[in-house]
Amino acid sequence: MDFDLSEEHLALRRVIRDFAEQEVAPLAETLDEKGEFPYDLVRKIGQLGLMGLIFPKEYGGKGADMLSYAIAIEELARVDSSIAITVAANVSLGGGPINLFGTEEQKLRWLVPLARGEVLGSMGLTEPGAGSDAGATQTNAVLHGDEWIINGSKEFITNSGTDVSGFVTISAVTGEVAGRSEISNIVVPRGTPGYSQADPYRKMGWHASDTHELSFVDCRVPVRNLLGKRGQGFRQLLQVLDGGRVSVAAIGVGLAQGCFEMSLEFAKNRTWAGQPLSRSQSVQFKLADMATGAELSRLMTYKAAVLQGRGRPFAKEASMAKLFASETAVNAADEAVGVIGVESQTHPVNRFFRDAKILTIGEGTSEIQRSVLARLLGC
Ligand SMILES: Cc1cc2nc3c(=O)[nH]c(=O)nc-3n(C[C@H](O)[C@H](O)[C@H](O)COP(=O)(O)OP(=O)(O)OC[C@H]3O[C@@H](n4cnc5c(N)ncnc54)[C@H](O)[C@@H]3O)c2cc1C
Repeated sequence: MDFDLSEEHLALRRVIRDFAEQEVAPLAETLDEKGEFPYDLVRKIGQLGLMGLIFPKEYGGKGADMLSYAIAIEELARVDSSIAITVAANVSLGGGPINLFGTEEQKLRWLVPLARGEVLGSMGLTEPGAGSDAGATQTNAVLHGDEWIINGSKEFITNSGTDVSGFVTISAVTGEVAGRSEISNIVVPRGTPGYSQADPYRKMGWHASDTHELSFVDCRVPVRNLLGKRGQGFRQLLQVLDGGRVSVAAIGVGLAQGCFEMSLEFAKNRTWAGQPLSRSQSVQFKLADMATGAELSRLMTYKAAVLQGRGRPFAKEASMAKLFASETAVNAADEAVGVIGVESQTHPVNRFFRDAKILTIGEGTSEIQRSVLARLLGC
């Protein structure tokens, strides 16, 4: 077992850290305050090759491993979760399904521009009555000649409504098999008649990330937009969500690390009873716990990413990493607000505190992770 990162991984970390500190950090507060989507940053991230980092070179990607991806997402989240989720959702939910299940034609049409950073992709699974219970999907797609006619709605879909959003892969009921809904995944290009999106949500956190409710009213797409085989949608979603959990875990690692670093810096510079606050044992214990939580989360996340990249089973590790890192991030943000005190109200930690909680909801809530784990552990 080797805990040292390779030269390539260290170099990638340096590049992304520099980008995050020099380009993202100075804008993050304003973007959050205005709820503005960071078009310039997303374009620069595309130019850096991050949107295609893990996709094959023949489809516009860089062919890097999953550990590289986890490191990149962690470094972005260390300064701003909105930009981290924009990239993570684009890669794991937008490009991931096409890369895993798409035909050659689908990859050339949708994966290549996404990997080059020219368009953003999204995945629409969640519905008002179907979040944790993905099988309860109501959106339906009926085959009529050589077209699917889609009706229904999706909620809270990341990256779905920007000027550069290219497509959404949606789950839909395409029939019934043995009394149960047959679920398939279908790619719907933005601009297809009958496909529309509502105004952006006013969210608790991730203010600079783009999230919309989507509607489909007699929306017609060609039969060739079906992803993989008809009826395989649910199985595909489970595979995509496993990868998505590594992404969310990596955001948790970065957010927890950022909280620790902001708290340490504040505690060293703030004088209390004639001494730096960092000399107070109660603050030292908080900082020690925050650093420990971030490091444990990092180890779990890297392990899940390495297993995923090697094509080994990784569902259990991804779920554990997502559960632990997201809850660690929430605790770290809570403790950081405590250390920074009243100044937290106008300090970037305010943003980290609001951003953290979403990590315990998206890609499966903490309760769902625990029930997934109970099943995988043979309970
Ligand atoms: C900012 C943001 C971005 C998002 N982006 C996307 C996206 O791009 N694409 C997408 O498809 N979705 C997206 N989502 C939706 C997200 O994946 C869902 O919110 C999540 O799956 C939980 O579903 P729900 O909110 O409907 O909760 P519900 O399923 O309604 O759950 C409510 C509560 O009940 C608990 N619960 C539910 N079932 C069980 C059970 N069986 N056992 C124990 N407890 C249970 C849950 O843990 C939770 O506490 C996003 C959400 C947010 C907040």
